[in-house]
Amino acid sequence: MRPSLLDPLFAPVTSLDGVGGRISALLANVVPVDTTGREVRIGDLIFVLPHSMIDRRNRPGIAAAPEGAVVTLEVRVDRHQPPPRGRGSVPYRVFAYDDTGEIALTFFHAKQPWIEKLLPVGEDVIVSGRMEWFNGRPSMVHPDHVVLADKAEELPEVEPVYPLTAGLSAKVLRRAIVGAVDRVPVLPEWQDAALMRKQTFPSFTDALRRLHEPADPIDIDPANSAWRRLAYDELLAGQLALALVRSRIRRVTGRPLRGDGAVEARIRAALPYSLTPSQQLALDEIHADLASPDRMLRLLQGDVGSGKTVVALLAMARAAEAGGQAALMAPTEILARQHFATIDPLARAAGLTTAILTGREKGAERTRILDDIAAGRTNFVIGTHALFQESVNFGDLVLAIVDEQHRFGVHQRLAMTAKGDVPDMLVMTATPIPRTLVLTAFGDMDVSRLTEKPAGRQPIQTVTLPLSRLSELVERMRKAVSEGQKIYWICPLVEESEEIKLMSAEDRFAHLKPVFGDAVGLIHGRMNGRDKDEAMRAFKEGETRILVGTTVIEVGVDVPDATIIVIEHAERFGLAQLHQLRGRVGRGSKPSTCVLLYKEPVGEVAKRRLSVMRETEDGFRISEEDLKLRGEGELLGTRQSGTPGFRVARLELHGDLLEIARDDARLVLDRDAELRSERGEALRMLLYLFGRDDAIRLLRAG
Ligand code: ADP
Ligand code: MG
Repeated sequence: MRPSLLDPLFAPVTSLDGVGGRISALLANVVPVDTTGREVRIGDLIFVLPHSMIDRRNRPGIAAAPEGAVVTLEVRVDRHQPPPRGRGSVPYRVFAYDDTGEIALTFFHAKQPWIEKLLPVGEDVIVSGRMEWFNGRPSMVHPDHVVLADKAEELPEVEPVYPLTAGLSAKVLRRAIVGAVDRVPVLPEWQDAALMRKQTFPSFTDALRRLHEPADPIDIDPANSAWRRLAYDELLAGQLALALVRSRIRRVTGRPLRGDGAVEARIRAALPYSLTPSQQLALDEIHADLASPDRMLRLLQGDVGSGKTVVALLAMARAAEAGGQAALMAPTEILARQHFATIDPLARAAGLTTAILTGREKGAERTRILDDIAAGRTNFVIGTHALFQESVNFGDLVLAIVDEQHRFGVHQRLAMTAKGDVPDMLVMTATPIPRTLVLTAFGDMDVSRLTEKPAGRQPIQTVTLPLSRLSELVERMRKAVSEGQKIYWICPLVEESEEIKLMSAEDRFAHLKPVFGDAVGLIHGRMNGRDKDEAMRAFKEGETRILVGTTVIEVGVDVPDATIIVIEHAERFGLAQLHQLRGRVGRGSKPSTCVLLYKEPVGEVAKRRLSVMRETEDGFRISEEDLKLRGEGELLGTRQSGTPGFRVARLELHGDLLEIARDDARLVLDRDAELRSERGEALRMLLYLFGRDDAIRLLRAG
């Protein structure tokens, strides 16, 4: 149950003075949280932080007030000049003066009685707002503040400026936020005292006050100790929640997997190469995890072509040695079949059986496969997500591997496998996820990295070419084919709604057919599985030399003697996808080429992407550039301003706090696994404050 102390923060914003349903709906656009399906709460509003401030202490006098500056003037009202009758578009002007000159205070569509009351003739008033000079005459249009001189204290000296949304005035938003901050109760401190001293963190409430009631520009600087305190609160809440999920998952098994290395030795003997040092290191780490009674949760990260599959296979070998089954899940059917084609012969060499299970296996065949899996007769099962979605019963599944999970649904997947009987987990990704994102998404999930590619690989030469030079390119490809090279030719997916005329894979195939005859093949997503297989097989075995396709071949496809990839409309692809596609070549010992065909005109961002591709093959650099170009949002599948998924933390500024938060979370749970101590109880409030209270439910269930 939520501590009642927090109730005021969970009250809807409509409980604030002056906030009704309409404003509440507008506030939903400014709060840094997705409030779909619920009301905007006071506790959402307090995390709307200012991005700048207005200093109203600047009082230069009328004559010296510069154009465009926000100034405060003490003036005497001289006369009113209402618009002539029937001329509503002419503004209402009030003239006022100080020792240095005269100014027009200008109002559009204003009611006369209201202005007469606001600015009585002969009175001394203080006005504050933006200066405008027009033809040498100063004016101030709709001053932000007008107060009588003897009530000067009503004028705020400094005001925070918040992000706005159409229809919501700065004044209304500010008033709502002030009201919200006033509702924040006195909360027990959840942060460690020593850390607070070291980081000079203020208390939660003081931090909020400093940011929302700034006296100086430094008070709203995201690098100041108040902002950092709140960022740390948020990061700690996240790490704590992840650590709770994780400790719960870990607790579930307790079966060490050990083997005598016999299966592994036979597979290795059948491999035409030996492992690279980082493949060996990753495998050692995986073996150590498997041998421990804790459940393995490991991410195997390796750039395209770094050789993740064989590491997976050797991990599976250990599972078999320990007498259990292993499953490998691929994102597409093509990839599942490819893995099967690689793994089945090697497994056979070691005396093991492998099954494939996708949507295609049907009827009696499927029943037989399922029976074998359930009876434990099948050692390795390879498939698409059908494998985990359906109720496939394993005799004794001890290791589950998820391949090419570069779309980052991993977090949910981990949660999913937290149910029921759970095997050791290995997730393989080619996306070089930056460390900070690994931490925020996985907590302290273990990571193995393949840092080098197998020996003998040659750099891929990347060139860009306008579509207008297509015929030249076709001529070059004709030569390449006659030399025995293999070529992928990628066309973007054409959406039905698209109006721009794009060459679809089918169109391009038809266009290349007269030139290349039977040497050109076609593969795309709308073909049925068997035709896709056939197209892949023909290409692999060299019956076709050019494979025209859509991005169905983006992920994982491995034809080591393909040496050229042409990507049409490269300007339409994202960097990560271009890198994935390019990784289809450069997998053998021969030099490879990637041709990025673009259609002019190319926008700035697309231009930058193409030149990044020309400059580097380094997946890490590419993903960093990618982040810069599109923001971190899309990587995590959520798009918001600032760092996705966060209200106050900005990883580019507060990234240093992340590791501290991870260690802190781990320490807390080591000492107080159920969050029952005094600090533990306070930390529960922190989880509620940042919407991570679903982790608390785990506590109770666990
Ligand atoms: P990815 O990491 O992109 O999934 P793969 O596992 O598909 O990469 O491996 C890419 C290619 O490299 C495959 O053809 C594979 O046989 C080959 N390969 C893997 N490891 C080695 C190695 N140690 N030495 C030589 N070739 C290797
Ligand atoms: Mg792969």
